[in-house]
Amino acid sequence: MSNIHELPFLKEKLEELKAQGVYRKLPILEGPNEPEVVLNGRKVINLSSNNYLGFANHPRLKKAAIEAVEKYGVGAGAVRTIIGNMDIHEEMEALLAKFKREEAVMSFQSGFNCNAGAIQAITEAGDLIISDELNHASIIDGARLSKADKTIYKHNDMDHLEKVLKENRDKYRNILIITDGVFSMDGDIADLPNIAALAEKYDAMTYVDDAHGSGVLGESGRGTVDHFHLHGRIDFSIGTLSKAIGVIGGYVAGSRTAQDWLNHRGRPILFSTALPPAAVGAIIEAIKMLMETTEYTDRLWNNARYFKEKLGRLGFNTSNSQTPITPVIIGDEAKTMEFSRNLFNHGVFVSGIVFPTVPKGTGRVRCMVTAAHTEEQLDRAVAAFEKVGKEMGLI
Ligand code: PMP
Repeated sequence: MSNIHELPFLKEKLEELKAQGVYRKLPILEGPNEPEVVLNGRKVINLSSNNYLGFANHPRLKKAAIEAVEKYGVGAGAVRTIIGNMDIHEEMEALLAKFKREEAVMSFQSGFNCNAGAIQAITEAGDLIISDELNHASIIDGARLSKADKTIYKHNDMDHLEKVLKENRDKYRNILIITDGVFSMDGDIADLPNIAALAEKYDAMTYVDDAHGSGVLGESGRGTVDHFHLHGRIDFSIGTLSKAIGVIGGYVAGSRTAQDWLNHRGRPILFSTALPPAAVGAIIEAIKMLMETTEYTDRLWNNARYFKEKLGRLGFNTSNSQTPITPVIIGDEAKTMEFSRNLFNHGVFVSGIVFPTVPKGTGRVRCMVTAAHTEEQLDRAVAAFEKVGKEMGLI
């Protein structure tokens, strides 16, 4: 007799994953996220984190987090609309708005939560969401929570976006165009100047998820909008605080009206407890550091260029990445995973990324170089790529 409490239907699905060779155990890190880590008991060079600026274990952020804990405790205590809003949250948002050169910022508990809450709050039945086909899963889920109609345009294809706008403009009240600022699997940048121009031509709103542009692109990491000098022309500029900023959280930067509305109708603001003080203290310190100097972003870009050029010279295909995200395209799924495993055995941790995260036949290892890597570490990683690449006949 089957016992539903043993979850046989899930066990069956897990067996299917095993049969397909895609069942996985989470890697376990012993210690902080650094350029070199002990992972599953082995010391390896870490090319798999989004800790772009090396802030996740930075002494200044840690000190600020400890001070915030001393002053405010470990938890915000409630959702912000009840009594979870502290002066430190307001200070963080004001500083972020200044940094982003926008009128106001509304923060969320994560980048994912931000998309899950903001998209449904600013669209409703009778509206249309037009989304780039390669947008992040949190945008897809956020759009699903909205009562607006949804459609997609071909990746970064402005002719197609214009066609969709032309066909739909008169059928809907508001139209919201959503794109990633930087696409996480290829490292290419959205054509924001043309997206902004099309939005103006067809009276649509724009929403840019800049998770991988925050702390990376623009002056001292102000993001993709700053990179293209589009301040005031993008309605909702979303950032994450978990990647380059090194902590956790997400935010919408834009107008005071947007902030005010999200404060009233952003469901994660109304129904989920605010960011903990330690995170907020560390975020404030990180933004101050970026406002003091471009040293961190300069180092990130120098390291990324150095690494990319060396891999390219060896004959690897690093796709058309325009950012520090460095995909090395292998193609075949099984070969991609074998390449990743072999690199690990040669002291380099770089994740294999295959279907369904990327299209079939475009398997890749995605290298994430950070500002904190030393040239010596990058050279060692390149040497491992060369050895394994030659052994596997990839170069
Ligand atoms: N948007 C994009 C484009 C992302 O890549 C990610 C993280 N993978 C998120 C949102 C979610 O951000 P967070 O990890 O802060 O929830």
